[in-house]
Amino acid sequence: MDEDGSYGGRSTDPCPRCGKERDFTRPDGKLIHQVPEVLDNEKLRETAGKIIDRLKEDGSLFPKNPDKAFFMIGVLEVIIGGKSKFFASSSGYKNRELHQNWLKPGHLERVTYHKGKWEVTHPEIPNQANGWKTILGYEALIPPDVHKEIRPCAAIRLLRQVALSNTGHQPNTGRRPNTGRQPNTGHLPITGLKMAEMVFVGKDIDVANPELQRVARNWHGKMSGSSWTAHSCDGCMKSIPYLICSRATNEFIHPNERPKR
Ligand SMILES: [Zn+2]
Ligand SMILES: [Zn+2]
Repeated sequence: MDEDGSYGGRSTDPCPRCGKERDFTRPDGKLIHQVPEVLDNEKLRETAGKIIDRLKEDGSLFPKNPDKAFFMIGVLEVIIGGKSKFFASSSGYKNRELHQNWLKPGHLERVTYHKGKWEVTHPEIPNQANGWKTILGYEALIPPDVHKEIRPCAAIRLLRQVALSNTGHQPNTGRRPNTGRQPNTGHLPITGLKMAEMVFVGKDIDVANPELQRVARNWHGKMSGSSWTAHSCDGCMKSIPYLICSRATNEFIHPNERPKR
């Protein structure tokens, strides 16, 4: 996260996927990007804080010694095709050997913001650069070198979940006979996307530990105790702009075919 509360850059940055400024406005007044930037807000920060409190309180909800754990949690809200969605996730490290994710539905007991509507989700992330989709379901066109830097951060999992949730089922207009399965193009409009990430740091974690410092070098400790707000890591900074570009792939020149400057 930047100091202004945005994840993966700002609306004035150029989009690496389609080449236009993210806040570029068409002559008809429409933004070319439905989500020009990913911002956090008070309610989501509060929600993340309540999850962290619950994590601290109940060690039995952990697969393994919580006092020695550190990981990121993230919460996201979005409106996909007019429907509000609320997703919570955690980052993928430190409990690999148990094949369990840190965050469980029980950790959301204290959440009051849109209570009961939250889904805890840990989608698999693609193992190939060409497996990534934008939040609208288009090919994300993430280059292989950027793909290699992507970590299973909470932010990445949440945006992946948005892409997987945008199945593009347009309402049936009844104009054409139903020919069975329609191709899944995934292009329901997306609005109101907001996110907050926070870091859980167990009480026995030595914050001077070089391993933590290495992994957490971008985390920004503004809060006391075991919750640190999170800065986007390099992989997130580079990949989030591709994931949030909402333009159809045939609307612009593919990055590989653009003239080199
Ligand atoms: Zn990250
Ligand atoms: Zn774009």
